[in-house]
Amino acid sequence: MNNTGMHEECGIFGIISPENGRKLGNLTYFGLYALQHRGQESAGIAVKNGSKILCHKNVGLVSEVFNDEILQKLDGETSIGHVRYSTSGGSSGINAQPIVSNLKFGNIALSHNGNITNSEKLKFELEKRGAIFQTDADSEILLHLIAQSDTDDFYTALNESLKKLEGAFCFLIIYDDKLIAVKDRNSTRPLCVGKLKDKTVISSESCALEMIDAEFIREIEPAEVLVVDKSGNMKTSKFTPETDKKFCIFEYIYFARPDSVFWGVDVHSARKIMGEKLAEKFKFNADIVIPVPDSGISAALGFSAKSKIPYEKGIIRNHYIGRTFINPTQELRNMKVKMKLNPVKSIIKGKKVVLVDDSIVRGTTSRKLVRLVKEAGAVEVHVAISSPPVISPCFLGMDTPTCDELIANSMSINEIAEHIGADSLVYLSVEELVESIKEVKGFCTKCFCNE
Ligand code: SF4
Repeated sequence: MNNTGMHEECGIFGIISPENGRKLGNLTYFGLYALQHRGQESAGIAVKNGSKILCHKNVGLVSEVFNDEILQKLDGETSIGHVRYSTSGGSSGINAQPIVSNLKFGNIALSHNGNITNSEKLKFELEKRGAIFQTDADSEILLHLIAQSDTDDFYTALNESLKKLEGAFCFLIIYDDKLIAVKDRNSTRPLCVGKLKDKTVISSESCALEMIDAEFIREIEPAEVLVVDKSGNMKTSKFTPETDKKFCIFEYIYFARPDSVFWGVDVHSARKIMGEKLAEKFKFNADIVIPVPDSGISAALGFSAKSKIPYEKGIIRNHYIGRTFINPTQELRNMKVKMKLNPVKSIIKGKKVVLVDDSIVRGTTSRKLVRLVKEAGAVEVHVAISSPPVISPCFLGMDTPTCDELIANSMSINEIAEHIGADSLVYLSVEELVESIKEVKGFCTKCFCNE
């Protein structure tokens, strides 16, 4: 979870190599490490070694789930990994991924990022026909759809099954001696391809390619099924011609790491422009611009550059609170704010402060942050938010609160400012947000719209 109440998505990462035993477990570990911000509940790696698929997964951070001894055993020619934030299913170890299964087509391993919105209906139909689910996460549905397919051809079964899925999904699949990458028809979540010498790498975000010195090649396209063999040959097809790109704009606002690049635009630069646009709308005098770390940093830099108000690191984030507070109850959320973010009195005292954050969801965290900054001696706190007001839950399964919990659903901007104790509050409009990333076309912005 970030500071304001939006949640991370899962992260997936895969490699295929011409030869066996190329330390794929280690490389996948580093890739997952770079994707850790997308989910901290569980982590796992599956590696195909000859005819066997070995898998290790558990609850915890990547660094907690794996050690040298485990990674030494995870060697082979193809690997996939997963870091999980539970958008569906519980947070127990049984929902950790990759999922490995033995189908009539042979062994298969699968990692999934996203949410299948017709999962209940599909699960009901599959169970009626005898499917027994091992987990309560919706990721397993694709495996059962493939298993129950009448065809003897795996790729026909895969395509037919993908057509039945609705919502947001990216899959990485190990099948036969291939690595398969799949994206939903709207391209809701990110997935890109890279090369590391003779290896092909696929990752949720390009920052994980950078981590292992792989070169970015391209994004996976909407509805694309990319099949990569051990020699690095890529065969691409679409499971449906009906595509409509609606990339989740929250990847640029908050989910992704600032050093990732999507569709040719790097996240840090996009956030800086969002901050510049906020500064253009800001009508007050202020002494310093402070980001809410970490997701407000790039926008605060843009705000400062445009407004000429000095940027200061007025809030220090404690990165070492680990998984102690993964249970997001109200009480724990309150404590988490204090543990996580410490205002620096020597910077803040006596100043008129602009506090820059990525979003306000429930308003509870923003309220506490404004209070913390005022208690540290700020004479005024103006809040600048680098997204529009979040007024609808995510219909594609992102774990956002319900309508009733979304503060912007029931309050005007002035009322929110008063509620959080801010001297002023400025948001970006949807148009200004989209304009900040104008090189990219086709966004989902539904949580800012009352559709
Ligand atoms: S509704 Fe919002 S969070 Fe959900 S996919 Fe669209 S932009 Fe992203």
